Amino acid sequence: MSDEVGGVGAASTATHGPQHAPSWITLGTMSGPIPSDVRHQPANVLYDDASAIVVDCGDGAVDQLRKAAIPLPAVRTVILSHLHVDHTAGLYGLIGRRLQAHIPGALTIYGPPGTLRVVNAIRSSFDFASGLMSRVPGLTHQLDAEITVVEITDGSQFTLGRIDVTAAINTHYRYPEGSPEAKRYQSLSLRFDTPTRSIAYTGDTGPSEKVEQLARGADMLVSEITDPEQVTSQLSRTLPIPPAALAAIKRRFELEHLTADEVGLLASRAEVKSVVITHNPLTAENMDRARDTIGCRFTGPVAFADDLDSY
Ligand SMILES: [Zn+2]
Ligand SMILES: [Zn+2]
Repeated sequence: MSDEVGGVGAASTATHGPQHAPSWITLGTMSGPIPSDVRHQPANVLYDDASAIVVDCGDGAVDQLRKAAIPLPAVRTVILSHLHVDHTAGLYGLIGRRLQAHIPGALTIYGPPGTLRVVNAIRSSFDFASGLMSRVPGLTHQLDAEITVVEITDGSQFTLGRIDVTAAINTHYRYPEGSPEAKRYQSLSLRFDTPTRSIAYTGDTGPSEKVEQLARGADMLVSEITDPEQVTSQLSRTLPIPPAALAAIKRRFELEHLTADEVGLLASRAEVKSVVITHNPLTAENMDRARDTIGCRFTGPVAFADDLDSY
């Protein structure tokens, strides 16, 4: 990581400003779905000692919360940017382990259309476990009552405590406008306006004017990144993919994610004050190159986040 954006290293050592500004902690900084021995799957948390808002919930998010010294009962809100499994696989663990640990209280899950379907599938998979627990007096769980799902879309706004949240549809999915697929599959970028600063989170997206507007003037832009060349060459070494399919995959990475140059352009056009890079599959060598490339477009501070960094 770099501390140029105010990073304070491991979350357990995070300090808070006089107004207890919420920290943005990168629980998992890998892009999905390839397993990594260094980075966990995409997940973040906005935490201010009183409440934890989990933003995307990749595989392993619950254990990463523990490493960040954030108690599971503090998590009352989850926001999903989109429903690709690298951003949602940890939701099963988060809901299930609340259930197993008998953590009472409400959990609200915000996400794009389809979120209710995903949460209902998880809920129904706990029938057996719930049945077991209902035989223990005092330990029944009302999953339906405890979990609320709020589906959000382009332009949705809501308030969580002192934080205003705004969603904007982005270009991660590229279905024709107005098509049934475009309604069903939506990927959202998010903006968090806190009492002390504003944070824009790209989620997964290709270049997008809407994301530029959403991020306009933000104190911190948390952005995904990719390197289509590197990612496709890694794929070709590990999987028997025919060259034509490989070219199509590379094109998708070019259109549906952000290269270093596009991250720099986004940051500069949106006039954000700083950038934090996550959802990051880059090798160390390519990260150095990406830092220079972003710097050609954007002159503010840029940090490449590691897991459990706090900003
Ligand atoms: Zn992703
Ligand atoms: Zn995705």
